[in-house]
Amino acid sequence: MRFDVCVVGGGAGGLMAAIFAARVEGVRVAIVERNTSAGRKLLKTGGSRCNVTHLCSVDEFVKACGKCGRYLKHCLYEFGPDAMVRFLAEGGVGTVVEEDGCVFPASDKSSDVNDLLVNTCKSEGAKFLYDKRVDEISRTADGFCVRMGEREVDCGAVVIATGGMSWPGTGSTGDGYSLAKKFGHRIIKPKASVVPLVVAEDWVRQLRGISLDKVVISGKVGEKKFSRTGAMIFTGTGIGGPASFETSMYVTDALAEGKGPVRVFVDLLPACGAEELERIIVDECGLNPKKDIVSVLTKWFVRSLATKLCEQADVDDVPASQLSRLKRKGLVKLIKAASLTITATRPVAEATVTRGGVCRDEIDGKTMESKKCAGLYFAGEVIDTDGPCGGYNLQIAWSTGAVAGRCAAEKIVIF
Ligand SMILES: Cc1cc2nc3c(=O)[nH]c(=O)nc-3n(C[C@H](O)[C@H](O)[C@H](O)COP(=O)(O)OP(=O)(O)OC[C@H]3O[C@@H](n4cnc5c(N)ncnc54)[C@H](O)[C@@H]3O)c2cc1C
Repeated sequence: MRFDVCVVGGGAGGLMAAIFAARVEGVRVAIVERNTSAGRKLLKTGGSRCNVTHLCSVDEFVKACGKCGRYLKHCLYEFGPDAMVRFLAEGGVGTVVEEDGCVFPASDKSSDVNDLLVNTCKSEGAKFLYDKRVDEISRTADGFCVRMGEREVDCGAVVIATGGMSWPGTGSTGDGYSLAKKFGHRIIKPKASVVPLVVAEDWVRQLRGISLDKVVISGKVGEKKFSRTGAMIFTGTGIGGPASFETSMYVTDALAEGKGPVRVFVDLLPACGAEELERIIVDECGLNPKKDIVSVLTKWFVRSLATKLCEQADVDDVPASQLSRLKRKGLVKLIKAASLTITATRPVAEATVTRGGVCRDEIDGKTMESKKCAGLYFAGEVIDTDGPCGGYNLQIAWSTGAVAGRCAAEKIVIF
């Protein structure tokens, strides 16, 4: 079997690469996917709602992605969030932009996005080869040989879009790293990002399942200060939810390099300033002198959390009338800046995103072509790029996929 472009991996990046390659006149495209269907991870995104992109300017996008942001600039200009929203609209998938810029399909169904991509691949003439795991890619006289067990595909160019190592049950088990290594590519050690955090404090671990709509987590890694706002859930080993996920982006490198633990401070009640909180506690205690302090805190927190906070502040068996100034200040400090010791992230398999992967310095950011091997391209999470939660990671896959697919196909046509 011979194709012009062979895309390895039928996830977000691979599907987009196949569409853009197949749109180049006369180019025959194959997508090799190890699962029996495409987009298994895509279907799970955003709790099956699929936060498909983040609507913002390219500069804002670049800033949000930190160290790898600038590298993505060219791909974002070629196929950025606006282009993705247009692509969906042209395919009949309307979108809704939430207040924070997160974009979802109006139907709230990730399957609508996946179906559109798969159907567009088919209508553009790309051929799916399912249930085939690529185990080797080698150079031939006129291109590449892509091997999957007994079967082989010959092609002029290859796009590796095998994803990272997160949620391996979806098919992303890091195969792309060994495929790339064979061509001399360096692999930046994969780490968990956008992931729950492991916390040393025992009282925090005892609050499993309790969530707060809005907290602020602040801290410092080296000279870099950070502060992230959002929902948080106690997980049994530490903290999860959007605010912790975003914090993980700042702490994952330090922890992996043995520079941990990292101390963070959590404002459990950002809607209320420290002085105001103290005044309300004074008033409540004055009005209800016989109440215990736990009951006072149930104004803001569920009882089990209120109880833990009071135990921590050593006021759990103090009646309201006897709450000393010192103890009150300690309680307010705990609520407004609970000090937590982050010892680790949860493992990469549990992470939303894999940080690390094929070294981006060795991939031309304007074409996504390997600098080590002409005709070899990369798209999506297999590359050492990652963004925060909020639609950034899928957009990275769309943008790099579109550029890799187009450039791979154009190279075939030109040569
Ligand atoms: C639970 C969850 C929710 C998420 N929600 C969001 C969200 O709402 N918004 C957002 O922006 N990001 C989200 N992400 C991140 C986002 O899903 C990924 O960044 C994105 O899917 C990466 O796309 P990709 O194509 O690079 O890799 P993947 O989607 O992982 O696709 C890689 C494909 O390659 C195939 N493959 C791997 N090895 C081989 C091989 N050897 N041979 C053949 N095929 C192979 C795999 O089976 C897979 O289908 C979420 C991630 C998770 C885990």
